[in-house]
Amino acid sequence: MLDRMISTELVEEDITIENHLRPQKLDDYIGQEKVKQNLKIFIEAAKSRGESLDHVLFYGPPGLGKTTLAGIVANEMGVHLKVTSGPAIEKPGEIAALLNNLQEGDVLFIDEIHRLNRQVEEVLYPAMEDYAIDILVGKGQAARSIRLELPKFTLVGATTRAGMLTAPLRDRFGVVNRLEFYNSKELQTIIEHSAQVLEIEIDEDGALEIARRSRGTPRLANRLLKRVRDFAQVQYEGKITLEVAVDALDRLDVDRLGLDRTDRQLLHTMMDTFGGRPVGLDTLAAAVGEDSGTIEDVYEPYLIQNGLIQRTPRGRMVTKHAYEHFGVPFPEDENEK
Ligand code: ADP
Repeated sequence: MLDRMISTELVEEDITIENHLRPQKLDDYIGQEKVKQNLKIFIEAAKSRGESLDHVLFYGPPGLGKTTLAGIVANEMGVHLKVTSGPAIEKPGEIAALLNNLQEGDVLFIDEIHRLNRQVEEVLYPAMEDYAIDILVGKGQAARSIRLELPKFTLVGATTRAGMLTAPLRDRFGVVNRLEFYNSKELQTIIEHSAQVLEIEIDEDGALEIARRSRGTPRLANRLLKRVRDFAQVQYEGKITLEVAVDALDRLDVDRLGLDRTDRQLLHTMMDTFGGRPVGLDTLAAAVGEDSGTIEDVYEPYLIQNGLIQRTPRGRMVTKHAYEHFGVPFPEDENEK
């Protein structure tokens, strides 16, 4: 659903801008303190031993900074970064070629690593563990497998669905990091920094308002900043203030909690069609016409984090807080049963 204003998936316009806005060093990366502290130690240790960094996995919803961290890891280690993604690698030969072209210490970043096919994944096992790949040469009876040594590289994997990674692959990552949603203060800092880079005039309250409505997600914060700037330029005097931000975001249909039409549709379906009773993920997906995986990875984590949806053994339930947010009376009786 690329037309979603608050989609956290990457859209074309973001790509060029994002490359400008990406922090290059760990110290410039805002938030995710636990992840940063861990990485700092592992990077320092690897560097002082003169070794490559252990393989790293980042997981969490889209737009939280996984790709950015992969770049930072390469920068901090002083090595090259090669970027690819699970669905882009179709054949074992392709991953073998990628690996074979790396230099000592390089970072290979595989986005959406849960989407690698089985045969490609199997090439990665010995590559990650022993820095070697086995390739088949010759045909028929004369075919034999030879072992090709690889440079000691670092695989950085990113996924929105850690649960979909196979155990053998997951076990080969020495460092596993979960990224969290950002708080408003952190997003405000990110927005102020992006505004500086893009030469957008913004005051503190304007930045905080955009931050509050960015679904805890830097990618969205940057995108909303650019849209609000358009309003500021055309309808106001150019500077983003609280008033400008509120007006623009309301018109963009992004509400006070950062919910957009699809979030609201999801919650309304749970309140109206299912009367606030628990509902299974697949049933909910069918009712709103979305893929259940997308609901689980993209929509639901933020709604759960903000106490609008609850996971219960009987299914997903909409909370009292959600009813209050929409000003709908909470069906006390239903929920006491
Ligand atoms: P992911 O790979 O998790 O989908 P990205 O790494 O592509 O997310 O991040 C999206 C954008 O958000 C980046 O271009 C970057 O500008 C911004 N961003 C993400 N995390 C941070 C952060 N911690 N500090 C500053 N900017 C960030």
